[in-house]
Amino acid sequence: KLYNQVQDLKGSIRVYCRVRPFLAGQSSYLSSVDHIEEGTITINTPSKYGKGRRSFNFNKVFGPSATQGEIFSDTQPLIRSVLDGYNVCIFAYGQTGSGKTYTMTGPKELTEQSQGVNYRALGDLFLLAEQRKSTFHYDVSVQMIEIYNEQVRDLLVTDGLNKRLEIKNSSQTGLNVPDASLVRVTSTSGVIDLMNLGQRNRVVGATALNDRSSRSHSCLTVHVQGRDLTSGTILRGCMHLVDLAGSERVDKSEVTGDRLKEAQHINKSLSALGDVIASLAQKNSHVPYRNSKLTQLLQDSLGGQAKTLMFVHISPELDAIGETISTLKFAERVA
Ligand code: ADP
Ligand code: MG
Repeated sequence: KLYNQVQDLKGSIRVYCRVRPFLAGQSSYLSSVDHIEEGTITINTPSKYGKGRRSFNFNKVFGPSATQGEIFSDTQPLIRSVLDGYNVCIFAYGQTGSGKTYTMTGPKELTEQSQGVNYRALGDLFLLAEQRKSTFHYDVSVQMIEIYNEQVRDLLVTDGLNKRLEIKNSSQTGLNVPDASLVRVTSTSGVIDLMNLGQRNRVVGATALNDRSSRSHSCLTVHVQGRDLTSGTILRGCMHLVDLAGSERVDKSEVTGDRLKEAQHINKSLSALGDVIASLAQKNSHVPYRNSKLTQLLQDSLGGQAKTLMFVHISPELDAIGETISTLKFAERVA
């Protein structure tokens, strides 16, 4: 406990900004991004926001031409720490269409080069475990859940999709959603099949006109248990890979019913996440984990000795400037 308190919490929270490139057909568009310089992004603000330029600082800023490999290379040390028994959270934050799923998973037509953080992280995990096999034996298993309207759903089931699951804090097993399917995996290809199942289940839960994936949080959790072959000591670490719901604010005068309810739930959980990370960064003694299902789920992987990486995504279009500014402000608060 004392050790946790003296840890430099600020050092365990990193925030990276990624700017999506313009998409096909947008080549003549003007960008809201003025320039990028290492950890600083400068945007052009239109008159509505006080015409001029405004800069925001992060641990790193990736421009539109950054590759999936470059994005992942700074994430690699976190994978090692999961095998060393630490907990890790990696988030993708941003408005719908800004590239969250691209960063975490990749584009629809996946190639080896375009694979996102999830695949690369697991690939690395198996590679490192293999390298350590003369001293450690590792067991890897995964869970994949979705949080929609503050309800937790298992994404790795083949039936009974809509069963609501409870979040429990069980420090013994390390499983916070004990009733969600827990599937042992031994290779990257096994994980790819599972992720595909999870993706399909996410889509199945949505009606055709209603892409629910942008309004729910999905979380792939990788549980790693390592046994030291000489001492018999057990190490347990886990990694949460979270594709957050779109952060765009909806106009309350324009939406009603289910859409408004969804928006309120998203709002609440993203601000709860922001509050938790900001209070960890400021080393506050009270961290408000209880305010949302998302922060309850991740409680033992945020703060303490856990490591957090947040990718905040920016859409470059000028007409996205309002959301871009609010995304950068959110990120600046937790950075
Ligand atoms: P989100 O998950 O935030 O809603 P997506 O990841 O689905 O956004 O991205 C929206 C679109 O932009 C998709 O067609 C995606 O393939 C494309 N895209 C996003 N980021 C990139 C990128 N870095 N390079 C190329 N295409 C991208
Ligand atoms: Mg998405």
